[in-house]
Amino acid sequence: MNTLFWDRETETLTRPRLEQLQLARLQETVRRAALRVPFYQRALAEIGLKPDEVRSLADVQRLPLTTSDDLRSQYPAGLLAVPPDEPVRLHTSSGTTGKPKAIFFSKKDIDNAGELMARSLVATGVTRQDVFQNMMSYGLFTGGLMMHYGAEKIGCLVIPSGPGNSERQLMLMQDFGTTAAHILPSYALYFAGFLEQRGVDARRDLAWRKAFVGAEPYTEETREKIQQALGLKVFNSYGLTEMNGPGVAFECSHQCGMHLWEDHFLLEILDPKTGAPLPEGQCGELVLTTLQREAMPILRYRTRDITRLLPGPCPCGRTHRRVDRITGRSDDMLIVRGVNIFPQQIERVLMAHPQIGRNYVIVLEGLDDLTVQVELAPAAFDGNVEHVADLQHQLTEKLKAELWVRPTVNLVPAGSMPVAEGKARRVIDKRSL
Ligand code: AMP
Ligand code: ZN
Repeated sequence: MNTLFWDRETETLTRPRLEQLQLARLQETVRRAALRVPFYQRALAEIGLKPDEVRSLADVQRLPLTTSDDLRSQYPAGLLAVPPDEPVRLHTSSGTTGKPKAIFFSKKDIDNAGELMARSLVATGVTRQDVFQNMMSYGLFTGGLMMHYGAEKIGCLVIPSGPGNSERQLMLMQDFGTTAAHILPSYALYFAGFLEQRGVDARRDLAWRKAFVGAEPYTEETREKIQQALGLKVFNSYGLTEMNGPGVAFECSHQCGMHLWEDHFLLEILDPKTGAPLPEGQCGELVLTTLQREAMPILRYRTRDITRLLPGPCPCGRTHRRVDRITGRSDDMLIVRGVNIFPQQIERVLMAHPQIGRNYVIVLEGLDDLTVQVELAPAAFDGNVEHVADLQHQLTEKLKAELWVRPTVNLVPAGSMPVAEGKARRVIDKRSL
Protein backbone atom coordinates (compact mmCIF):
# COMPACT_ATOMS: atom_id res chain seq x y z
CA MET A 1 0.00 0.00 0.00
CA ASN A 2 1.26 3.43 -0.88
CA THR A 3 1.34 5.27 2.44
CA LEU A 4 0.58 8.96 2.39
CA PHE A 5 1.96 11.39 4.93
CA TRP A 6 1.10 14.95 5.83
CA ASP A 7 4.28 15.51 7.83
CA ARG A 8 6.44 12.50 7.07
CA GLU A 9 9.44 13.69 9.03
CA THR A 10 7.56 14.16 12.31
CA GLU A 11 5.35 11.13 11.84
CA THR A 12 8.30 8.80 11.29
CA LEU A 13 10.87 10.22 13.73
CA THR A 14 13.00 7.51 15.29
CA ARG A 15 11.93 6.71 18.85
CA PRO A 16 15.09 8.16 20.44
CA ARG A 17 14.66 11.37 18.48
CA LEU A 18 10.95 11.57 19.29
CA GLU A 19 11.63 10.99 22.98
CA GLN A 20 14.35 13.62 22.99
CA LEU A 21 11.86 16.05 21.52
CA GLN A 22 9.25 15.06 24.08
CA LEU A 23 11.63 15.63 26.96
CA ALA A 24 12.63 19.10 25.77
CA ARG A 25 8.96 20.02 25.34
CA LEU A 26 7.94 18.52 28.66
CA GLN A 27 10.64 20.54 30.42
CA GLU A 28 9.49 23.70 28.67
CA THR A 29 5.84 22.99 29.50
CA VAL A 30 6.58 22.46 33.19
CA ARG A 31 8.73 25.58 33.29
CA ARG A 32 5.98 27.70 31.76
CA ALA A 33 3.27 26.19 33.96
CA ALA A 34 5.34 26.84 37.08
CA LEU A 35 6.05 30.38 36.03
CA ARG A 36 2.71 31.44 34.61
CA VAL A 37 -0.12 29.31 36.01
CA PRO A 38 -0.86 29.90 39.71
CA PHE A 39 -2.72 26.59 39.93
CA TYR A 40 0.39 24.63 38.89
CA GLN A 41 2.70 26.91 40.82
CA ARG A 42 0.87 25.88 43.98
CA ALA A 43 0.62 22.20 43.02
CA LEU A 44 4.36 21.98 42.30
CA ALA A 45 5.27 23.91 45.45
CA GLU A 46 3.13 21.53 47.49
CA ILE A 47 5.18 18.53 46.43
CA GLY A 48 8.41 20.54 46.49
CA LEU A 49 9.26 19.88 42.85
CA LYS A 50 11.27 22.39 40.87
CA PRO A 51 10.91 22.46 37.07
CA ASP A 52 14.61 21.82 36.52
CA GLU A 53 14.26 18.55 38.41
CA VAL A 54 12.44 17.10 35.41
CA ARG A 55 15.40 15.41 33.75
CA SER A 56 13.92 12.38 32.03
CA LEU A 57 10.58 11.37 30.57
CA ALA A 58 10.07 9.05 33.53
CA ASP A 59 10.09 12.13 35.76
CA VAL A 60 6.61 12.91 34.43
CA GLN A 61 5.42 10.57 37.16
CA ARG A 62 6.58 13.03 39.77
CA LEU A 63 4.33 15.76 38.41
CA PRO A 64 0.88 16.41 39.87
CA LEU A 65 -2.16 14.94 38.12
CA THR A 66 -4.89 17.24 36.81
CA THR A 67 -8.51 16.12 37.06
CA SER A 68 -11.62 17.43 35.37
CA ASP A 69 -12.69 18.78 38.78
CA ASP A 70 -9.47 20.80 38.86
CA LEU A 71 -10.36 22.31 35.49
CA ARG A 72 -13.88 23.07 36.71
CA SER A 73 -12.51 24.70 39.82
CA GLN A 74 -10.53 27.08 37.59
CA TYR A 75 -13.61 28.10 35.58
CA PRO A 76 -13.96 30.59 33.92
CA ALA A 77 -10.41 31.97 33.77
CA GLY A 78 -8.88 28.56 33.19
CA LEU A 79 -5.25 27.60 33.55
CA LEU A 80 -4.08 30.41 31.32
CA ALA A 81 -0.34 30.62 30.73
CA VAL A 82 -0.65 33.70 28.50
CA PRO A 83 -2.05 37.20 29.08
CA PRO A 84 -5.87 37.15 29.00
CA ASP A 85 -6.03 38.99 25.66
CA GLU A 86 -3.84 36.39 23.93
CA PRO A 87 -6.25 33.49 23.33
CA VAL A 88 -8.33 33.64 20.17
CA ARG A 89 -10.78 30.83 20.89
CA LEU A 90 -12.75 29.31 23.73
CA HIS A 91 -14.23 25.83 23.70
CA THR A 92 -16.03 24.19 26.56
CA SER A 93 -16.41 20.59 27.49
CA SER A 94 -19.66 19.73 29.08
CA GLY A 95 -19.92 17.46 32.04
CA THR A 96 -23.20 16.01 33.10
CA THR A 97 -23.74 18.58 35.83
CA GLY A 98 -22.52 22.01 36.86
CA LYS A 99 -20.16 24.35 35.06
CA PRO A 100 -18.29 23.18 31.99
CA LYS A 101 -14.52 23.13 31.60
CA ALA A 102 -13.24 26.21 29.76
CA ILE A 103 -10.38 25.52 27.34
CA PHE A 104 -8.57 28.43 25.68
CA PHE A 105 -6.54 28.37 22.48
CA SER A 106 -3.96 30.77 21.06
CA LYS A 107 -3.57 31.26 17.30
CA LYS A 108 -0.73 28.80 17.34
CA ASP A 109 -2.79 26.26 19.30
CA ILE A 110 -5.59 26.42 16.73
CA ASP A 111 -3.08 26.05 13.94
CA ASN A 112 -1.51 23.05 15.66
CA ALA A 113 -4.90 21.41 16.16
CA GLY A 114 -5.56 21.80 12.43
CA GLU A 115 -2.14 20.31 11.62
CA LEU A 116 -2.86 17.25 13.75
CA MET A 117 -6.22 16.84 12.06
CA ALA A 118 -4.65 17.12 8.61
CA ARG A 119 -2.06 14.54 9.63
CA SER A 120 -4.78 12.22 10.88
CA LEU A 121 -6.95 12.47 7.79
CA VAL A 122 -4.05 12.02 5.37
CA ALA A 123 -3.04 8.90 7.33
CA THR A 124 -6.34 7.32 6.25
CA GLY A 125 -5.73 8.24 2.61
CA VAL A 126 -7.62 11.53 2.38
CA THR A 127 -6.31 13.85 -0.37
CA ARG A 128 -7.29 17.22 -1.77
CA GLN A 129 -9.54 15.39 -4.23
CA ASP A 130 -11.86 14.38 -1.40
CA VAL A 131 -15.21 16.00 -0.75
CA PHE A 132 -15.52 16.09 3.00
CA GLN A 133 -18.93 16.31 4.67
CA ASN A 134 -18.58 17.31 8.30
CA MET A 135 -21.67 15.90 9.99
CA MET A 136 -20.62 16.97 13.51
CA SER A 137 -21.85 19.92 15.56
CA TYR A 138 -20.11 23.22 15.04
CA GLY A 139 -19.93 25.40 18.13
CA LEU A 140 -18.55 25.04 21.62
CA PHE A 141 -17.98 21.36 20.87
CA THR A 142 -14.57 20.97 19.19
CA GLY A 143 -15.60 18.09 16.90
CA GLY A 144 -16.96 20.25 14.10
CA LEU A 145 -14.49 23.10 13.88
CA MET A 146 -11.19 21.31 14.46
CA MET A 147 -11.92 18.61 11.90
CA HIS A 148 -13.05 21.31 9.49
CA TYR A 149 -9.71 23.12 9.68
CA GLY A 150 -7.76 19.91 9.10
CA ALA A 151 -9.74 18.98 6.01
CA GLU A 152 -9.40 22.52 4.63
CA LYS A 153 -5.64 22.50 5.19
CA ILE A 154 -5.42 19.40 3.02
CA GLY A 155 -7.43 21.17 0.35
CA CYS A 156 -10.59 19.05 0.44
CA LEU A 157 -13.88 20.62 -0.49
CA VAL A 158 -15.44 20.85 2.97
CA ILE A 159 -19.20 20.78 3.39
CA PRO A 160 -19.98 22.01 6.93
CA SER A 161 -23.36 20.30 7.09
CA GLY A 162 -23.40 19.77 10.85
CA PRO A 163 -25.44 16.92 12.32
CA GLY A 164 -29.06 15.89 11.78
CA ASN A 165 -31.46 16.64 8.92
CA SER A 166 -30.78 13.38 7.11
CA GLU A 167 -32.77 14.48 4.09
CA ARG A 168 -30.41 17.41 3.51
CA GLN A 169 -27.31 15.31 4.31
CA LEU A 170 -28.30 12.90 1.57
CA MET A 171 -28.99 15.67 -0.91
CA LEU A 172 -25.55 17.19 -0.26
CA MET A 173 -23.89 13.79 -0.62
CA GLN A 174 -25.60 13.14 -3.93
CA ASP A 175 -25.22 16.61 -5.42
CA PHE A 176 -21.61 17.25 -4.44
CA GLY A 177 -20.25 13.70 -4.52
CA THR A 178 -19.18 13.40 -0.87
CA THR A 179 -16.35 10.88 -0.54
CA ALA A 180 -15.49 11.25 3.16
CA ALA A 181 -17.48 12.23 6.23
CA HIS A 182 -17.06 12.89 9.91
CA ILE A 183 -19.94 11.42 11.88
CA LEU A 184 -20.94 10.16 15.32
CA PRO A 185 -21.29 6.37 15.59
CA SER A 186 -24.89 6.69 16.81
CA TYR A 187 -25.80 8.96 13.90
CA ALA A 188 -23.98 6.73 11.39
CA LEU A 189 -26.12 3.80 12.51
CA TYR A 190 -29.26 5.87 12.23
CA PHE A 191 -28.26 7.31 8.87
CA ALA A 192 -27.68 3.81 7.49
CA GLY A 193 -31.28 3.00 8.38
CA PHE A 194 -32.48 6.22 6.79
CA LEU A 195 -30.71 5.39 3.52
CA GLU A 196 -32.21 1.92 3.50
CA GLN A 197 -35.65 3.38 3.96
CA ARG A 198 -35.05 5.67 1.03
CA GLY A 199 -33.94 2.78 -1.10
CA VAL A 200 -30.48 4.30 -1.40
CA ASP A 201 -27.73 1.71 -1.70
CA ALA A 202 -24.67 3.58 -0.42
CA ARG A 203 -22.25 1.34 -2.36
CA ARG A 204 -24.06 1.84 -5.63
CA ASP A 205 -25.55 5.31 -5.34
CA LEU A 206 -23.03 7.31 -3.32
CA ALA A 207 -19.32 8.11 -3.67
CA TRP A 208 -18.89 8.01 0.14
CA ARG A 209 -15.96 5.68 0.99
CA LYS A 210 -14.48 6.85 4.29
CA ALA A 211 -16.05 7.74 7.62
CA PHE A 212 -14.21 9.23 10.60
CA VAL A 213 -16.10 8.05 13.60
CA GLY A 214 -15.56 9.00 17.20
CA ALA A 215 -16.47 11.39 20.02
CA GLU A 216 -18.32 8.63 21.82
CA PRO A 217 -17.44 5.06 22.66
CA TYR A 218 -18.39 2.32 20.23
CA THR A 219 -17.41 -1.27 19.77
CA GLU A 220 -15.67 -3.18 17.00
CA GLU A 221 -19.06 -4.80 16.29
CA THR A 222 -20.56 -1.36 15.70
CA ARG A 223 -17.70 -0.42 13.37
CA GLU A 224 -18.39 -3.57 11.39
CA LYS A 225 -22.10 -2.83 11.28
CA ILE A 226 -21.52 0.70 9.96
CA GLN A 227 -18.96 -0.52 7.40
CA GLN A 228 -21.32 -3.21 6.12
CA ALA A 229 -24.37 -0.99 5.99
CA LEU A 230 -22.66 1.92 4.25
CA GLY A 231 -20.05 0.06 2.22
CA LEU A 232 -17.17 2.17 3.43
CA LYS A 233 -14.19 2.15 5.78
CA VAL A 234 -14.64 3.46 9.30
CA PHE A 235 -11.61 5.05 10.94
CA ASN A 236 -11.63 5.49 14.69
CA SER A 237 -11.02 9.06 15.80
CA TYR A 238 -10.24 9.98 19.39
CA GLY A 239 -9.92 13.29 21.13
CA LEU A 240 -11.20 15.46 23.92
CA THR A 241 -11.74 19.17 24.30
CA GLU A 242 -9.10 19.45 27.01
CA MET A 243 -6.48 18.24 24.47
CA ASN A 244 -7.75 20.28 21.42
CA GLY A 245 -10.65 18.00 20.54
CA PRO A 246 -10.33 15.46 17.70
CA GLY A 247 -6.89 14.63 16.33
CA VAL A 248 -5.29 13.34 19.54
CA ALA A 249 -5.23 9.78 18.23
CA PHE A 250 -6.40 8.46 14.88
CA GLU A 251 -6.36 5.25 12.92
CA CYS A 252 -4.25 5.07 9.80
CA SER A 253 -5.25 3.19 6.65
CA HIS A 254 -4.44 -0.11 8.40
CA GLN A 255 -7.28 0.38 10.90
CA CYS A 256 -5.35 -1.32 13.69
CA GLY A 257 -5.46 1.03 16.66
CA MET A 258 -5.02 4.78 16.83
CA HIS A 259 -1.65 6.53 16.47
CA LEU A 260 -1.44 9.00 19.34
CA TRP A 261 0.48 12.06 18.19
CA GLU A 262 3.32 11.91 20.66
CA ASP A 263 5.09 15.08 19.57
CA HIS A 264 2.09 16.97 20.99
CA PHE A 265 0.97 14.72 23.84
CA LEU A 266 2.92 12.72 26.37
CA LEU A 267 0.93 9.60 27.15
CA GLU A 268 0.75 7.41 30.21
CA ILE A 269 -1.51 4.47 30.99
CA LEU A 270 -2.16 4.32 34.72
CA ASP A 271 -4.03 2.05 37.03
CA PRO A 272 -7.11 4.20 37.69
CA LYS A 273 -7.26 3.11 41.32
CA THR A 274 -3.63 3.33 42.41
CA GLY A 275 -2.19 5.69 39.81
CA ALA A 276 0.65 3.23 39.15
CA PRO A 277 1.99 3.11 35.57
CA LEU A 278 0.92 0.01 33.65
CA PRO A 279 3.05 -1.91 31.16
CA GLU A 280 2.34 -2.00 27.44
CA GLY A 281 -0.70 -4.10 26.62
CA GLN A 282 -2.45 -3.64 29.95
CA CYS A 283 -5.68 -1.65 30.11
CA GLY A 284 -5.80 1.43 32.26
CA GLU A 285 -6.63 5.12 32.28
CA LEU A 286 -5.12 7.28 29.58
CA VAL A 287 -3.32 10.27 31.09
CA LEU A 288 -2.08 13.03 28.79
CA THR A 289 0.27 15.97 29.13
CA THR A 290 0.24 18.70 26.48
CA LEU A 291 3.69 19.26 24.98
CA GLN A 292 3.08 22.22 22.68
CA ARG A 293 0.15 24.09 24.16
CA GLU A 294 0.66 27.82 24.42
CA ALA A 295 -2.50 29.23 25.97
CA MET A 296 -3.35 26.46 28.35
CA PRO A 297 -0.80 23.76 29.11
CA ILE A 298 -2.22 20.81 31.04
CA LEU A 299 -0.08 18.43 33.05
CA ARG A 300 -1.03 14.75 33.38
CA TYR A 301 -4.71 15.09 32.58
CA ARG A 302 -6.80 12.18 33.80
CA THR A 303 -8.99 11.51 30.77
CA ARG A 304 -10.95 8.72 32.54
CA ASP A 305 -10.82 6.88 29.22
CA ILE A 306 -9.79 3.25 29.44
CA THR A 307 -7.46 1.85 26.80
CA ARG A 308 -4.11 0.13 26.35
CA LEU A 309 -0.96 0.59 24.35
CA LEU A 310 -0.69 -1.76 21.40
CA PRO A 311 2.64 -3.54 21.00
CA GLY A 312 4.85 -3.52 17.94
CA PRO A 313 5.25 -1.19 15.01
CA CYS A 314 2.46 -0.33 12.59
CA PRO A 315 3.00 -1.40 8.96
CA CYS A 316 2.41 2.22 7.86
CA GLY A 317 5.83 3.27 9.20
CA ARG A 318 4.60 5.85 11.68
CA THR A 319 6.55 5.66 14.91
CA HIS A 320 3.96 7.27 17.16
CA ARG A 321 2.52 4.54 19.35
CA ARG A 322 -1.00 3.21 18.95
CA VAL A 323 -3.71 3.02 21.56
CA ASP A 324 -6.54 0.54 21.37
CA ARG A 325 -10.21 1.43 21.00
CA ILE A 326 -11.50 3.13 24.16
CA THR A 327 -13.39 0.41 25.99
CA GLY A 328 -15.21 2.80 28.26
CA ARG A 329 -14.62 5.40 30.91
CA SER A 330 -13.42 4.60 34.38
CA ASP A 331 -16.57 6.34 35.63
CA ASP A 332 -19.12 4.63 33.41
CA MET A 333 -19.07 1.28 35.09
CA LEU A 334 -22.53 0.32 36.32
CA ILE A 335 -23.03 -1.73 39.41
CA VAL A 336 -26.14 -3.84 39.02
CA ARG A 337 -27.04 -6.29 41.76
CA GLY A 338 -23.47 -6.15 42.96
CA VAL A 339 -22.03 -6.98 39.53
CA ASN A 340 -19.80 -4.59 37.54
CA ILE A 341 -21.12 -3.94 34.06
CA PHE A 342 -19.73 -1.77 31.28
CA PRO A 343 -22.25 -0.49 28.71
CA GLN A 344 -19.95 -1.64 25.92
CA GLN A 345 -20.40 -5.28 26.94
CA ILE A 346 -24.08 -4.86 26.15
CA GLU A 347 -23.40 -3.06 22.87
CA ARG A 348 -21.09 -5.86 21.73
CA VAL A 349 -23.80 -8.50 22.17
CA LEU A 350 -26.45 -6.36 20.48
CA MET A 351 -24.42 -5.25 17.48
CA ALA A 352 -23.10 -8.73 16.74
CA HIS A 353 -26.65 -10.06 16.37
CA PRO A 354 -27.91 -9.97 12.75
CA GLN A 355 -31.56 -9.51 13.70
CA ILE A 356 -30.86 -6.56 15.95
CA GLY A 357 -31.04 -3.03 14.62
CA ARG A 358 -29.06 0.10 15.25
CA ASN A 359 -30.37 1.97 18.25
CA TYR A 360 -30.52 0.99 21.87
CA VAL A 361 -30.73 2.34 25.39
CA ILE A 362 -29.93 0.80 28.77
CA VAL A 363 -32.36 1.71 31.54
CA LEU A 364 -31.79 1.12 35.24
CA GLU A 365 -34.65 1.62 37.61
CA GLY A 366 -36.31 0.43 40.78
CA LEU A 367 -34.16 -1.88 42.79
CA ASP A 368 -31.47 -2.62 40.24
CA ASP A 369 -33.76 -3.59 37.38
CA LEU A 370 -31.84 -3.62 34.12
CA THR A 371 -33.77 -3.12 30.89
CA VAL A 372 -32.21 -3.11 27.44
CA GLN A 373 -34.46 -1.51 24.87
CA VAL A 374 -33.29 -2.12 21.34
CA GLU A 375 -34.58 -1.75 17.81
CA LEU A 376 -35.08 -4.77 15.59
CA ALA A 377 -33.25 -4.85 12.26
CA PRO A 378 -35.56 -3.54 9.51
CA ALA A 379 -36.03 -6.98 7.95
CA ALA A 380 -36.22 -8.90 11.23
CA PHE A 381 -39.95 -8.65 11.92
CA ASP A 382 -41.95 -11.02 9.76
CA GLY A 383 -45.25 -10.35 11.56
CA ASN A 384 -44.93 -13.50 13.64
CA VAL A 385 -45.08 -12.61 17.35
CA GLU A 386 -43.62 -15.96 18.30
CA HIS A 387 -40.43 -15.18 16.39
CA VAL A 388 -40.03 -11.96 18.31
CA ALA A 389 -40.58 -13.76 21.62
CA ASP A 390 -37.98 -16.28 20.56
CA LEU A 391 -35.45 -13.59 19.68
CA GLN A 392 -36.16 -11.84 22.96
CA HIS A 393 -35.40 -15.04 24.83
CA GLN A 394 -32.20 -15.63 22.85
CA LEU A 395 -30.92 -12.13 23.54
CA THR A 396 -31.79 -12.28 27.22
CA GLU A 397 -29.75 -15.46 27.55
CA LYS A 398 -26.80 -14.05 25.57
CA LEU A 399 -26.75 -10.90 27.71
CA LYS A 400 -27.08 -12.91 30.89
CA ALA A 401 -24.09 -15.06 29.88
CA GLU A 402 -22.04 -11.91 29.18
CA LEU A 403 -23.12 -9.81 32.16
CA TRP A 404 -24.03 -12.38 34.80
CA VAL A 405 -27.20 -10.40 35.41
CA ARG A 406 -30.53 -11.17 33.74
CA PRO A 407 -31.84 -8.12 31.90
CA THR A 408 -35.32 -7.45 30.57
CA VAL A 409 -35.03 -7.16 26.80
CA ASN A 410 -37.51 -4.89 25.14
CA LEU A 411 -37.57 -5.21 21.33
CA VAL A 412 -39.08 -2.31 19.41
CA PRO A 413 -39.57 -1.67 15.66
CA ALA A 414 -36.70 -0.33 13.53
CA GLY A 415 -36.51 3.46 13.51
CA SER A 416 -38.89 3.89 16.46
CA MET A 417 -36.38 5.22 19.01
CA PRO A 418 -35.30 8.86 19.09
CA VAL A 419 -31.82 9.85 17.88
CA ALA A 420 -29.96 12.74 19.49
CA GLU A 421 -28.12 15.28 17.33
CA GLY A 422 -25.24 15.28 19.78
CA LYS A 423 -23.66 12.36 21.56
CA ALA A 424 -26.06 9.51 22.25
CA ARG A 425 -27.21 8.95 25.79
CA ARG A 426 -26.95 5.19 26.09
CA VAL A 427 -27.57 4.77 29.81
CA ILE A 428 -30.51 6.15 31.74
CA ASP A 429 -30.01 5.46 35.40
CA LYS A 430 -33.24 6.31 37.17
CA ARG A 431 -32.01 4.72 40.38
CA SER A 432 -30.07 7.79 41.34
CA LEU A 433 -32.71 10.33 40.39
P1 AMP B 1 -15.52 16.03 24.36
O1 AMP B 1 -14.54 16.76 25.16
O2 AMP B 1 -16.94 16.50 24.58
O3 AMP B 1 -15.17 16.01 22.92
O4 AMP B 1 -15.53 14.52 24.85
C1 AMP B 1 -14.36 13.77 24.89
C2 AMP B 1 -14.66 12.36 25.33
O5 AMP B 1 -15.41 11.66 24.32
C3 AMP B 1 -13.44 11.53 25.54
O6 AMP B 1 -12.84 11.76 26.79
C4 AMP B 1 -14.00 10.13 25.39
O7 AMP B 1 -14.62 9.70 26.59
C5 AMP B 1 -15.05 10.28 24.32
N1 AMP B 1 -14.49 9.90 23.02
C6 AMP B 1 -13.98 10.69 22.08
N2 AMP B 1 -13.57 9.98 21.00
C7 AMP B 1 -13.81 8.69 21.27
C8 AMP B 1 -13.61 7.45 20.58
N3 AMP B 1 -13.08 7.37 19.37
N4 AMP B 1 -13.95 6.32 21.23
C9 AMP B 1 -14.48 6.35 22.46
N5 AMP B 1 -14.72 7.48 23.15
C10 AMP B 1 -14.39 8.63 22.58
ZN1 ZN C 1 -0.27 3.10 11.12
